[in-house]
Amino acid sequence: MLRRASLRVTGPRVAVLRAVHDHPHADTDSIYGVVRSDLGVVVSLQAVYDVLRALTDAGLVRRIQPAGSVARYEARVGDNHHHVVCRSCGAISDVDCAVGYTPCLTAADDSGYEIDQAEVIYWGQCPRCAAAASAASGR
Ligand SMILES: [Zn+2]
Ligand SMILES: [Zn+2]
Repeated sequence: MLRRASLRVTGPRVAVLRAVHDHPHADTDSIYGVVRSDLGVVVSLQAVYDVLRALTDAGLVRRIQPAGSVARYEARVGDNHHHVVCRSCGAISDVDCAVGYTPCLTAADDSGYEIDQAEVIYWGQCPRCAAAASAASGR
């Protein structure tokens, strides 16, 4: 993948790319942890930041940043899928593109812009938090 994107293949780049593949939607700190402890590659946090930026610029990794969250990274690129975010714990899951009748994705007034993309984040509670909340309330 690195070679196809004309990036030099280095240990840290391979390790970060693998970490992002194995841990979708991880933030920089968790990727740093995976690279160091699971993959045993000695890198600095700054190097991980730099590699993530290079991979994102090359289109190998997609960066998402829901409101109130730090940047997260994923290797599922090129399909412009959406995300659902848990308001309680910050968990993130993929949501495929909306299909069928999607009134909110069609701007009622495009102000003359040529729109080619709508970015959607669904907010709610993940199954774990919803279960914990209903257990706590005794329902
Ligand atoms: Zn949650
Ligand atoms: Zn995703």
